[in-house]
Amino acid sequence: MSHVVTRIAPSPTGYMHIGTARTALFNWLYARGRGGKFLLRIEDTDRARSTPEASEAILRGMAWLGLDFDGEAVSQFEQAARHREVALEMLSKGAAYKCFATQDEISAFRAEAQAEKRSTLFHSPWRDIPASEHPDLPFVIRLKAPRDGQTVIHDEVQGDVTFKNADLDDMICLRSDGTPTYMLAVVVDDYDMGVTHVIRGDDHLANAARQSHIYHAMGWSLPVYAHIPLIHGPDGKKLSKRHGATGVEEYQEMGYLAAGMRNYLARLGWSHGNDEFFTDAQALEWFDTNGIGKSPSRLDFKKLDNISGQH
Ligand code: GLU
Repeated sequence: MSHVVTRIAPSPTGYMHIGTARTALFNWLYARGRGGKFLLRIEDTDRARSTPEASEAILRGMAWLGLDFDGEAVSQFEQAARHREVALEMLSKGAAYKCFATQDEISAFRAEAQAEKRSTLFHSPWRDIPASEHPDLPFVIRLKAPRDGQTVIHDEVQGDVTFKNADLDDMICLRSDGTPTYMLAVVVDDYDMGVTHVIRGDDHLANAARQSHIYHAMGWSLPVYAHIPLIHGPDGKKLSKRHGATGVEEYQEMGYLAAGMRNYLARLGWSHGNDEFFTDAQALEWFDTNGIGKSPSRLDFKKLDNISGQH
């Protein structure tokens, strides 16, 4: 049995985007091609934006594309108690601290820094204040991130990517109402679910640098990262509705074939020599992060029509 565990962690805030489907496919191919596990986590921590309809659309999209996942879909929201526990553990280890700065104080600091053309990165004055001097006021828990040196993320697609620690702030892990932030939740869930490989959009690359400090604080080993360039429209701009159909369901409704769609999505940012068409067995055998390109892939609606053979 392989130890590879991948996941897809969509936020259920709308329809299932074609980019989410591609990320799901890459993770599915990577795990299934290695006899590993592929998991689904619904990132519904943001209660205001998450809807059950969007979760259902994700499940339907995965089923249509034939991307079966192991076990039950995990709800991130339901893990909130565990996220809190980890935040408190980091606090007791001295890797995090209580910050009593109010939103008004932070906004005032930022406005002033902006006016004086200084960095607007907020350095909390509470970082080094001993607990004995803490007021009885609401607080957030911030991670004590290193201020000097660099954080290097080893990425299977992007290579070694270096971030200056001076540019990373002490991110909030737990809000004053006790709810976790996305940054904390994603790390705790990936660790608890035993995820070994995180394959996701490269809009999360800088998050990986910040999230790596939570792994270090907890003494957990980092997953293997592979950040995939986003999908662009034919004009080279980030794919959006104005380019055409961007929802998986739209393609299903138009009568596209799931197998054609899988083939097309696999080729969107990944290649295996000059092979354009392949069987599922070949995709499973060939898929590797080595074949993922470093530049954004373009969704070519005409080609998609040809491959899917419906129009
Ligand atoms: N929930 C995030 C998103 O939908 C993904 C987070 C991740 O893959 O780590 O963009």
